[in-house]
Amino acid sequence: MDSSKPTAVVTKIVRKPQIIPRTEHGVSRSEISENALKVLYRLKNAGYHAYLVGGGVRDILLGLKPKDFDVATDAHPEQVRELFRNCRLIGRRFRLAHVHFGREIIEVSTFRASHNDAVDGEGHEEDGRIIRDNVYGTLDDDVWRRDFTVNALYYNIEDYSIVDYVGGLEDIKNRQLRLIGIPEDRYREDPVRMLRAIRFAIKLDFSIHPVSEQPIRKLAPLLEEIPEARLFEEFLKLFMSGQSEKAYQQLREYGLFAKLFPQTEEFLNRGDEFIHKLLISAFRNTDTRLAEDKPVTPAFLLAALLWVPVRDLANDHEGNGLSEMDAIHLASDAVISHQISSTSMPRRFTHMARDMWALQVRLKNIRGKRPLKLLAHQRFRAAYDFLLLRAEAGEDVQELASWWTAFQEEHMDIQLAAKKEHQKKRFRHRQKRFR
Ligand code: ATP
Ligand code: MG
Repeated sequence: MDSSKPTAVVTKIVRKPQIIPRTEHGVSRSEISENALKVLYRLKNAGYHAYLVGGGVRDILLGLKPKDFDVATDAHPEQVRELFRNCRLIGRRFRLAHVHFGREIIEVSTFRASHNDAVDGEGHEEDGRIIRDNVYGTLDDDVWRRDFTVNALYYNIEDYSIVDYVGGLEDIKNRQLRLIGIPEDRYREDPVRMLRAIRFAIKLDFSIHPVSEQPIRKLAPLLEEIPEARLFEEFLKLFMSGQSEKAYQQLREYGLFAKLFPQTEEFLNRGDEFIHKLLISAFRNTDTRLAEDKPVTPAFLLAALLWVPVRDLANDHEGNGLSEMDAIHLASDAVISHQISSTSMPRRFTHMARDMWALQVRLKNIRGKRPLKLLAHQRFRAAYDFLLLRAEAGEDVQELASWWTAFQEEHMDIQLAAKKEHQKKRFRHRQKRFR
């Protein structure tokens, strides 16, 4: 691939956009959601400019189905709200309009000037991170605040043309991700862009342009400044989209994984074969389930990612005289609280991981009536799947895992009844929530 093409660094000097008429590109209205079209047309009919931008345009050009549709306009958020009843304004740092159509949300953002154009120096922290980002602008301002060239293609609802200021179409052809502007500056402004680079490279099967790739290792520590909740969102996008194994490998290669899961990284660096195998099996398992449209939960990955640190600490506690159960609880609490200082995790997931770990201890007790009781435990299935994973990765629990497999087959009826009961409970719980 010719990575020097068109230019290594896309800068603002290239001001004149390329405009590709409808007859010369492949974005057809039939591939844009009806709701996104409704938003675009209503803005246009009210006298505003309106463009589809971001993943919507990029994915259609690549023959993929867009996950969601983003609209850019010169209408201010309040003006957007006046046009749509089903509209909510969100965001503190920058106000965005969300237009709701049932489950589909069309995100409408007002053209923004890049912060460098704002009053000199304002809006930047000393290390270059953006803290305030709310200066409205025009389309040719808006382009420069976007991350990658392929995410900065604008589809104009006025004449169905595509506007390309940054050589995004060329990069789509070359299947490469190139940051707009000077990469180091752009990563410093928003370190999450490093994670986005990895995510898009995997999702689109693109390479990262060497100039955009080069600073990532050095700047990986900047992720420490990102709010944990935002990192969790990125974690979900990276690991719950069907390509978690690749995400894991790439993130490790660039030193980003260490910032998301520092305790796990520590054990990986000790050269422990087991943890590596366990993680790969967990990722493959998740990816396969997603490919088969089976339900998955981030708690399962969380349980796998933190299992070795938990087990290690629990062993220490046991060595100091604690019972096996007390040891695992204490270790779970410590490891989780350390983890959530890097990537916050909603309680329902950390609780589930905790239950799964505690059940690893309880599953060892296969005498008397206890196993029958455990079969009906709400987390039995997840804990059993996790036991299989441990066995597969080489932990000394193969016999135990086989025992449970056979035992379940014998008592299919109990499991089915328990499953129905849990489903009923969940359903009632949900009804309460929606009331
Ligand atoms: P997908 O929706 O498939 O994950 P996307 O490219 O649409 O990909 P979004 O997160 O929906 O990504 O964002 C929409 C657009 O907003 C992006 O294409 C990009 O132009 C811009 N954008 C989003 N996040 C950033 C960021 N951190 N820095 C700069 N621009 C961004
Ligand atoms: Mg999007």
